[in-house]
Amino acid sequence: MPATILVVEDEADLSVLMRYNLEAEGFRVLTAESGDEAAEILQETVPDLILLDWMLPGLSGIELTRRWRAREETARVPIIMITARGEEEERIRGLATGADDYVVKPFSVPELLARVQALLRRSSPQLVTSVLKAGDLELDRTSHRVRRSGREVHLGPTEYRLLEYLMRHPGRVYSREQLLDGVWGNDVYVDERTVDVHVGRLRKAINRGRAADPIRTVRGAGYAFDERFDKAG
Ligand code: CA
Repeated sequence: MPATILVVEDEADLSVLMRYNLEAEGFRVLTAESGDEAAEILQETVPDLILLDWMLPGLSGIELTRRWRAREETARVPIIMITARGEEEERIRGLATGADDYVVKPFSVPELLARVQALLRRSSPQLVTSVLKAGDLELDRTSHRVRRSGREVHLGPTEYRLLEYLMRHPGRVYSREQLLDGVWGNDVYVDERTVDVHVGRLRKAINRGRAADPIRTVRGAGYAFDERFDKAG
C-alpha cells in the first residue's frame, strides 16, 4: 500500500507540481485548495502525511494545524508546513503549533521529497522502502549505503542521489535536463554535461572489473537504469 499524502495548497501550479512529483515517487496524492476542502477529505481518509500551505484562503495553515492536532484521528499525522515566510520566528511558530517540519518557498523538489521521505521513515517506516535492489546492487536509503555483490561501494553525495533517482524507476529513460531537475534541483543552474561527468564517476565506482554496467546510455535521449543488467550476458 503506497503512503497517502494530502496536499493543501491554493496555488494551482504548485499543487500540480507537488502532485506530479509525489506520484512519481509512488505516493497516492489527494489535493485540497483550502482548509474546508481538506476537512472534507479528512472526514473520509486519514493520510499518512500532510503538506500544508501556510497562507490559504479561509483558515491559515497554522490554525488548521492547531485543529488537526486537537482531533484524535489526525493528532499524529505528520505535517510539513509550506511557508513563503523565511523569517525564523514564523517557522518556530509553525513548529510550536505542531507542524513536524517546514519548507520555505520557493523550495526545491528534491528537498521536499527528501523531507517527506525522512518524516515518513520516522512516522511509518513500513511505508517507505528502505532498500532498493537490482541484481547484485543494493542501495539502502536509510543508511545511504550502496553495496555491489555484498561489498560496500563508496559514492559521493551527487553520485548517490543520481543512482537512487535512476533506481527508483528502472527502465525509465531520463533526459539530462530531467536528471538535473530531479537530482540537482530545478533552481540550480549547471551545464547538462555535468550529468555526463557524474554518470561517469558513478559507473567507475559501481562497475569494478568485469561487472556489468546497470546504467544504460540512450543515444540522443539520456540515461536509464537497466534492472536486468546482470542478465544481459
Ligand atoms: Ca497559498
